[in-house]
Amino acid sequence: MKSDGYRERGLRNKLVKKLREKGIRDEAVLDAIGKVPRHVFFDDALLNHAYEDKAFPIGEGQTISQPFTVAFQTEKLEVKRGDKVLEIGTGSGYQAAVLLEMGATVYTIEYNRKLYDGTRAFLPNLGYNPFFLFGDGSKGYPAKAPYDKILVTAGAPVVPETLTDQLSEGGILVIPVGDRERQVMVRIRKVKGKLIKEEFDYFAFVPLLGEKGWKNA
Ligand code: SAM
Repeated sequence: MKSDGYRERGLRNKLVKKLREKGIRDEAVLDAIGKVPRHVFFDDALLNHAYEDKAFPIGEGQTISQPFTVAFQTEKLEVKRGDKVLEIGTGSGYQAAVLLEMGATVYTIEYNRKLYDGTRAFLPNLGYNPFFLFGDGSKGYPAKAPYDKILVTAGAPVVPETLTDQLSEGGILVIPVGDRERQVMVRIRKVKGKLIKEEFDYFAFVPLLGEKGWKNA
């Protein structure tokens, strides 16, 4: 396991400062990003880039999202201690670690077997223990529904109804929606059974695959 010392903590503080400058206001989100040792999620070859505000490859053609994107999505999710959160797209497990630091109970689902196996074996070593699920998260995970919050960390062609169906009353879904190149960040809130939709900035995510996502990578 890579060490987490004075240097890494200093780099994390700088990253948090940058995220604040870029407009992230939720102190609980900033606090969590200040705690999760992002460099431990990186291959040795990329270690020096761990605290840059950039996305990086994690193998299998997938990425660990840019810290700003993680912060932006998590802020829009309005995470509260004790929330039951479904994350779609486990990837490296970094986003799940941020949600756990915020006191959420996290169910995280991954469609890529290698990433699922790798992250499931690695993340608990850091003390982060979400419920790891394998399968097509574009359909959500009905067996454990409803969720207070659902976070999709891959770009979807549409908002799958299967996901809004799995939100509890007052629940929030954050999902990037668009074409394969660019997606607008969408937030959907379930209020008295009705869905209230807001749109925010544009981002570029890898595609959400599966039945309610894109048909091929
Ligand atoms: N949240 C991740 C992290 O913190 O490292 C980054 C996620 S990466 C941008 C998108 C992930 O979504 C990839 O790991 C990809 O395999 C996964 N994915 C794509 N389609 C999926 C689906 N239908 N169900 C579950 N995961 C999916």
